[in-house]
Amino acid sequence: MYKISLSSKEIPKKWYNINADLPSPLPEYKDSEEGGNLENLPKIFSKGVLEQEMSTERWIDIPKEIRNVYKMIGRPSPLFRAKRLEEHLDTPAKIFYKREDYSPTGSHKLNTAIAQAYYAKKDGVNRLTTETGAGQWGTALSLACSMLDMDCTVYMVKVSFNQKPFRKTIMELYGGEVIPSPSPNTEFGRKILSENPEHPGSLGIAISEAMEEALNDQKVYYALGSVLNHVLLHQTIIGLETKKQLEKADETPDVIVGCVGGGSNFGGAVFPFIKDQIDGKIDCKFIAAEPQSCPTLTKGKYCYDYGDTAGMTPLMKMYTLGHNFIPPSVHAGGLRYHGMAPQVALMVKEGLVEGRTVTQKEVFESGITFAKAEGVVPAPETCHAIKVGIDEAKECKKTGKEKNIIINFSGHGMLDLKGYDDYLNGKLPENSK
Ligand SMILES: *Cc1c(COP(=O)(O)O)cnc(C)c1O
Repeated sequence: MYKISLSSKEIPKKWYNINADLPSPLPEYKDSEEGGNLENLPKIFSKGVLEQEMSTERWIDIPKEIRNVYKMIGRPSPLFRAKRLEEHLDTPAKIFYKREDYSPTGSHKLNTAIAQAYYAKKDGVNRLTTETGAGQWGTALSLACSMLDMDCTVYMVKVSFNQKPFRKTIMELYGGEVIPSPSPNTEFGRKILSENPEHPGSLGIAISEAMEEALNDQKVYYALGSVLNHVLLHQTIIGLETKKQLEKADETPDVIVGCVGGGSNFGGAVFPFIKDQIDGKIDCKFIAAEPQSCPTLTKGKYCYDYGDTAGMTPLMKMYTLGHNFIPPSVHAGGLRYHGMAPQVALMVKEGLVEGRTVTQKEVFESGITFAKAEGVVPAPETCHAIKVGIDEAKECKKTGKEKNIIINFSGHGMLDLKGYDDYLNGKLPENSK
């Protein structure tokens, strides 16, 4: 079987909340002295998502309205067997990949965008602000807002705004307003620009700007595309579907791999399986792949830090490279984030999840191997997971073990061809990490 599908009737009816099963309690968010106060949260987030953020209920209903939109965008997404890749690698392992690229915007991000827009609208709010780096999140939120008849304002990191003009086009065609960040629209943006008018921007700065706008306007909420508990909760639809699909194929996972930026596609794909691991039902290895240029899990410190640059978020305990860390520009823009979802960070701290770094060259090499074998062009972010998946399959060739390796295919790379072009033409920097 090359493709394992679920019917729309089989779509999960509840999200899975890992907070109910954590091996040790998640350290609470803390007020900061810079203004990142917990009491600000209800001003910028809907009641629905804030309740989920703090909840310890194991199962949380997916409202019928959200399930319907999920079906409209093609969920459940299929699970594919990478048979030609297995043959190419000559491995006894079976490699599966979960197709989050099937979404109209090409990545997993729509799973939470739809939910966040739905709960905001329920509170009577009609506009969402957000940030975007590579453009995937801004695109997903623009489409979600369009589907729910809402407005969307996206602060886009200035280097990406200039380098990826077509990303802006997609957001605008879905009705999103796109502003290069740092911008003169916010106090924080003006401060950065006064210090350096040519500032290239960063995800942390764009988050600060989007949050500032929502804080100052009661009719506007802010949406974050990763990191927070409620985002990872919404993404568990990925792992819950994968679990049903593996059961259908009569297989159990031995290795599950995902790439990590803020940790949402990884958390969403693995959390439902971590519960089985804790219960002793499976014996599985969970690997989070990150870029060597932004090695949050492998080189970061586990401590309290801000989620943004200005210090407007409350303090969160996580692995972090420091909120002032500006990661070097790499093609996998979606993985350039200084912090990590506190839930994923805790899993690493507890030894349930392993962090692994890969270099940019290996990333594109693996992406091309995959594309040649399977036909699908992976996003540069996704290539990190593929590289680790391929390494695991090669290891199986050495040991002769017939492991089941599951790769979360977070998105396609049809809008990231510049990176592939640079690789093919030998233009990636020589010391490229
Ligand atoms: C945004 C993005 C990521 C990284 O974000 P996470 O929150 O870590 O999942 C990975 N892959 C793709 C395709 C993305 O768009």
